Amino acid sequence: MAHAAAAPDRQAQLAREIAARRDDLVALTQDLIRIPTINPPGEFYRDICDYLARRLEKSGFAVKMLRAEGTPGDSERHPRWNVIARKEGDRPGPCVHFNSHIDVVETGSGWTFDPFGGTVSDGKIYGRGACDMKGGLAASIVAAEAYAALWPDHPGAIEISGTADEETGGYGGVAWLAEQGYFSPERVQHVIIPEPLNKDRICLGHRGVMWAEIRAHGRIAHGSMPFLGDCAVRHMGAVIAEMEASLFPALAAKRTAMPVVPDGARQSTMNINSIHGGQAEPEPGFTGFPSACVPDQARMVIDRRYLIEEPAEEVREEIVALLERVKAERPGFRYDFEELWQVSPTMTPADSPVVVAVERAIRAALACEPVHVVSPGTYDQKHIDSIGRLKDCIAYGPGILDLAHQPDEYVGIDDMIDSAKVMAFALDDLLHGHAQDASALTGGKEQT
Ligand SMILES: [Zn+2]
Repeated sequence: MAHAAAAPDRQAQLAREIAARRDDLVALTQDLIRIPTINPPGEFYRDICDYLARRLEKSGFAVKMLRAEGTPGDSERHPRWNVIARKEGDRPGPCVHFNSHIDVVETGSGWTFDPFGGTVSDGKIYGRGACDMKGGLAASIVAAEAYAALWPDHPGAIEISGTADEETGGYGGVAWLAEQGYFSPERVQHVIIPEPLNKDRICLGHRGVMWAEIRAHGRIAHGSMPFLGDCAVRHMGAVIAEMEASLFPALAAKRTAMPVVPDGARQSTMNINSIHGGQAEPEPGFTGFPSACVPDQARMVIDRRYLIEEPAEEVREEIVALLERVKAERPGFRYDFEELWQVSPTMTPADSPVVVAVERAIRAALACEPVHVVSPGTYDQKHIDSIGRLKDCIAYGPGILDLAHQPDEYVGIDDMIDSAKVMAFALDDLLHGHAQDASALTGGKEQT
């Protein structure tokens, strides 16, 4: 081939440079875990952005602090801060961007380690956010720093961002930055999101989401004479019965070509997120009885996850058709259907430059075959795709996905080193345009 992947001697240099930074990588990860950026409500964003800014300025990056003012959750008490660091090379070339979210979810119970202690034990670093995704952020920083130290005269530009609110939809983070043009294809060409997906796997995208609320209406009456009213809970029961009879089997039959993991999610799914009907729950401590009333309202929130093969319109119509079937059979049944939130499925083609580069990097760094996966749930790639219109984006990073949001979350130090090597090799490939050429040469087909 005219353009080979990054030369083996360059890779050996990079691997040595990263291995030599092991203690620094551990300390960096511990420091990040010790800033308890719990979201909601979005604590200590400014602190972690300041920390990242100081660190990356020292390594020669130009740093911007950006507050997503007015986005959901943004307030004087909980400002939505983001940081973007950019290092220009000495000649034109593409920009490779590593995007990590800085927020973590609440700790929950069941921890045997201090959730914000960053304890090192048995080759692992423990803490909330260790794998999701401060370990990935730290690995990408060390990969970029090692690369820039070896070859400050690289082409193009390297960017690293730490962004807010991924755990709550990313509206004060990547979505807002994309609206400001920070993820436009003119500015950034390749994006790697170091989410914890295991070091040998490349995540091409995610399924779509539609959240909706269904409200069933009835008529209030005395509970001793329910025939004088119309029970909204019974109507909702009929909706659930129809879902069991027709919708859930239909969803299970819709298998996808997307390589979604785990296998149970390689189809359409729906969760009934909540259901409420009748009188409100009494205040805690209230010792009285409820009154005898026929419920005049019941509501249900559904969480439908859909496939790249399904148009959003079809997903919506499937539910509405079900409600219409119930209506045809039940005199008096009236309903409202309201869509609450919609995210389109996204999947980067397997022959895209960033996929090709990371595949080659995994083979070279880990001597194993990379596996393509698609995430059952969404992450910030949705905004980079739909708002930024930037398609060459994947998630790749250290850590075991199942540990995310769990007690005693950890990231393996060897895994971080390995994935830092993969990220650095891919960076070298992409900055020099090798993967771009290979991707173009295959003419739309994957090549190994
Ligand atoms: Zn995450």
